[in-house]
Amino acid sequence: MAQTKEKKLSDGQKLQKKLSFEFPLVAMEAPEITEKAFAFSEDYKVFLDEAKIEREAAAFAEKLLTEAGYTVFDPQKEYKPGDKVYVNNRGKAILATTFGKKSLLEGIRINAAHIDAPRLDLKPTPLYEKNSIAYFKTHYYGGIRKYQWAAIPLALHGVIYKKNGEAVQVRIGEDASDPVFYISDLLPHLSAKQNGRKLADGIRGEELNIILGSLPYPDDAVKDPVKLNILSILHDKYGITEADFLRAELEVVAAGQARDVGFDRSMIAAAGHDDRVCAYPALRAEIDSKKPTYTTVTVLTDKEEIGSVGNTGLNSAYLQHYLEYLAENAGISYKDMLKNALCLSSDVSAAFDPTFPDVYDPSNSCYLGKGCVLTKYTGARGKSGSNDASAETMYKVIDIMNKNKVFWQAGELGKVDEGGGGTVAQFIANLNIDVVDLGVPVLSMHAPIEIISKIDVYEAYKAFLAFYK
Ligand code: MN
Ligand code: MN
Repeated sequence: MAQTKEKKLSDGQKLQKKLSFEFPLVAMEAPEITEKAFAFSEDYKVFLDEAKIEREAAAFAEKLLTEAGYTVFDPQKEYKPGDKVYVNNRGKAILATTFGKKSLLEGIRINAAHIDAPRLDLKPTPLYEKNSIAYFKTHYYGGIRKYQWAAIPLALHGVIYKKNGEAVQVRIGEDASDPVFYISDLLPHLSAKQNGRKLADGIRGEELNIILGSLPYPDDAVKDPVKLNILSILHDKYGITEADFLRAELEVVAAGQARDVGFDRSMIAAAGHDDRVCAYPALRAEIDSKKPTYTTVTVLTDKEEIGSVGNTGLNSAYLQHYLEYLAENAGISYKDMLKNALCLSSDVSAAFDPTFPDVYDPSNSCYLGKGCVLTKYTGARGKSGSNDASAETMYKVIDIMNKNKVFWQAGELGKVDEGGGGTVAQFIANLNIDVVDLGVPVLSMHAPIEIISKIDVYEAYKAFLAFYK
């Protein structure tokens, strides 16, 4: 065997090694992680496919929690370390807890991710016919680049309530045998004028119309026979009439399953990684925490993408009320409990994109394959709308990750004044809780199909597990 000569470092190189720091590529530093990350990602892809919208994600989480022995939280019941409880808020948000060994006064550990994602919602009166094609009108939800939603297969998910109160679950466009839906765009031959529009205006909000059908109901005495034919099909399939759309929440997302990306299969392309790529590892870490030191509160929330509004969003009091119940249940002061609480606001960040490097600060961006990303502050125009975690909070979270060999990186979302974004962190900070953002880097964030690294989602899971240890 040939002996490898150790390269002699100069004094300067030695000093540099001692004093400077760079986040490594996980697969270079610890190649054994790759296999584990790939295995974890198989489970994540099941969640991606079965839980494409917030209602489906809440139902999926409730099923997993129940199977793991969680029971519905009862404020009157006495709980001991290791007991597991949950609350389902209106079918659109989940709170789950494992009681810890230490008193709630010594600190609780909260991990909050969101299960809503940017999409197209149907308008209340969506169905119309134009030139013998039937359409749904939509109103987009969250920050989207509208031009990305044309000319791709789309699926419809959600619920419709009939007059008698019966709920009809809708999920069409996902099975290989299902039809899909579609938004048309102009052909290059006739788009000279449209090409002159600004990209933000490439497809306009009122042009995001979903094509539903082109066959008429066979009666030439009828006005809008194609619309009537669609209504007739919907009546046969779901027993609904046009008025029932007024009692519905129907959401349009990119159709199809999560897929591996690349010859090396190191990444996953799917709809709505933001923020299911944090929600799933958060849920798994919650379930896998058997006897945590501190009591856990895992939050899978709704409405983050439109400002955490509504009573299933974190700007409402639903989390606060749950925490109050926990304190009352333990016979301690709610306000005192919050002083020692520590929270991860688990949300995605923008991965550095080598094709569009101009909008990123390369030394303060996160990268695919370097692990989960810790974000001290988000916001825009001088940190506005940010939580801006303290150095003390950064210390606590970095210490947890380092002690548990989690691969993590620091990053902020893009260059100063290039844009920005917010998370739920600010609303949790409003409760007088220490909080910092931790998440997963995403390429093409908020596109109908986004990309993440399998290694990064696995490191997020490891971070959340360590946080609950
Ligand atoms: Mn998000
Ligand atoms: Mn988002």
